[in-house]
Amino acid sequence: HRPPSLARSRSSRLVVLAGPTAVGKGAVSGYIRENYPDVLLSVSATTRKPRPGEVDGVNYFFVSDEEFDRLEASGQMLETATVHNAYRYGTPRAPIDAAIAEGRSVLLEIDLQGARSVRRAMPDAVLVFLLPPTWEELVRRLIGRGTEDAAEQARRLETAKIELAAQDEFDYRVVNAEVGQAAREVVDLMGFPTH
Ligand code: 5GP
Repeated sequence: HRPPSLARSRSSRLVVLAGPTAVGKGAVSGYIRENYPDVLLSVSATTRKPRPGEVDGVNYFFVSDEEFDRLEASGQMLETATVHNAYRYGTPRAPIDAAIAEGRSVLLEIDLQGARSVRRAMPDAVLVFLLPPTWEELVRRLIGRGTEDAAEQARRLETAKIELAAQDEFDYRVVNAEVGQAAREVVDLMGFPTH
C-alpha cells in the first residue's frame, strides 16, 4: 500500500533510487551520469573508506566521523543513515535545492532508510526500487564484485533481504537486467514533472 498523496506523483524532478547491495545502483547512476549530463547526481557524504577507483567529490565525499557530525549538526544534510550497521551516509541538501531551482532533475542513490526520510521531507519525490532479475543473480553480482570479505558480504545480504521486503513502499520497481534499459526507465520518470 502507499500513502494517497503518492498515487498522483507519476514523475518528479527528484527521483530516489534505492535497492539492495550490488544490484547495480552505481552502474545505473553511472550510465545516467554519462548519458544524461543535465541530471544532477547527488554526491553523498560517507564515513567509509574509498574503494579502488572511487574519487572523492565524485562518488562520495569521504569524511571523518567528526566532519560528518559537523555536517549533520549544522543542518546541511537532507537525510542521514547508518548503513549495514557500520558506516554513516548522508545527502547534502544545498546542491539539490540549487539544481531544482534551476529546473534540473536530481537523482539520489541512497538506501531504504534514506528513501523513507526523503519521502517525509519531500513528498513529491518519486521513489524507485531497483531489483535484480533473481536473488541468485544478486548474490552472484555481490561475490563477483569482490570488494567485500565474506563476513561483509553476509551482512549485506541480510540487509538486502530486509530491503527487498520493503519494495512495495516504492512508487516504481525497475529490474536491472541491462543497465542502459534500467537507466532509461529511471530517467523517464523525470520527464514530465508535476511541478
Ligand atoms: P556503498 O558503501 O556500497 O557505496 O553504499 C552502501 C549503501 O549506502 C547503499 O545502499 C547506498 O545506496 C547507500 N547510500 C549511499 N549514500 C547514501 C546517502 O547519502 N544516504 C543514505 N541513506 N544511504 C546512502
